[in-house]
Amino acid sequence: MDYISELRQDPVSGDWVVIATVRNKRPDQLIVKKEKRLIPPKTDCPFENPQASDHPSPKIIEFLPKQKDWFLQILENKFPAFKPEEVSVQERPLGPYHIINGRGYHEILIIKNHYKPLSDYSVKELAVMLKTLQKRYREISRDKKIKYIAIFHNWGPTAGASIYHPHWQIIAIPVIPPRLEHSLTDSLRYFNRHRKCVYCEMIKFERREHKRIIFENGGAVAFSPFVSREPFEIRIFPKKHISYFEQTSSTLTKSIAAALKESLTLLKNKLDDPDLNFFIHTAPVSDKNKHRHYHWHIEIIPKISVSAGFELSTGIEITIIDPDEGAKFLKS
Ligand SMILES: [Zn+2]
Ligand SMILES: [Zn+2]
Repeated sequence: MDYISELRQDPVSGDWVVIATVRNKRPDQLIVKKEKRLIPPKTDCPFENPQASDHPSPKIIEFLPKQKDWFLQILENKFPAFKPEEVSVQERPLGPYHIINGRGYHEILIIKNHYKPLSDYSVKELAVMLKTLQKRYREISRDKKIKYIAIFHNWGPTAGASIYHPHWQIIAIPVIPPRLEHSLTDSLRYFNRHRKCVYCEMIKFERREHKRIIFENGGAVAFSPFVSREPFEIRIFPKKHISYFEQTSSTLTKSIAAALKESLTLLKNKLDDPDLNFFIHTAPVSDKNKHRHYHWHIEIIPKISVSAGFELSTGIEITIIDPDEGAKFLKS
């Protein structure tokens, strides 16, 4: 970076970020020391034996490998934000507002071990989690009222995890969320103009520059994006152009799982186990053929900085660590 700061625009979202690094400081010196992670005992954990502890017990979707001696299970969230009730999706106006009934799905995937964070699972085990999520994704996507299925993981209280026990969440909703809508429209505009996928171009650029690459194998690549909204943000892509998470082959899913493991492990080891969110961005389930230009990926956002007045008022994030330096630090 040649100047004191740089405004960088994301070619997909159109969002601007300011990379304004603090000079003469190492990336780790900029991280506010957090309190030691509190691990609550198993005895208070609602995910230890969800079938026994609830009245009525939440609906079970899946056990793997089997109910007795399970490794993971998918179940309905005990306090769901959306429910798949057989009512029509009602849309109605109210004054200047637009309302739709919250019909959808809100499920969690829990792994049996209370103490083991996702980064500590093997590539094979992470691939099993991803493949189970793909299967469930395909099942939910048969519901014609669902337009988008969000899959994410919250780690730590500042990232919104109210329960310590490691788990994934699945939320399926009857609208396409605005963030996705922007990405779909803007990546389509790029495609129409250049006859190329903007994400494939980003991947090519990152692999050529190589400064921000965190991990790469035959099928997947992980890097700190040139336009990072947060310090140490990481994105993981399948290297070949594939729009739909749920259509990813088993081999490629394993490559992605390896990139996820490496990324989470580096963040944990180098940044002292930060709170974080990661999520899957994939082409929506509705209008299948309209979104072949999209390129699915995972975004990992560690909770390093707090959005303040400038970010809230402008939507422009100020990133205090140059992604080049961030990637270098993670790999050091
Ligand atoms: Zn637990
Ligand atoms: Zn692509």
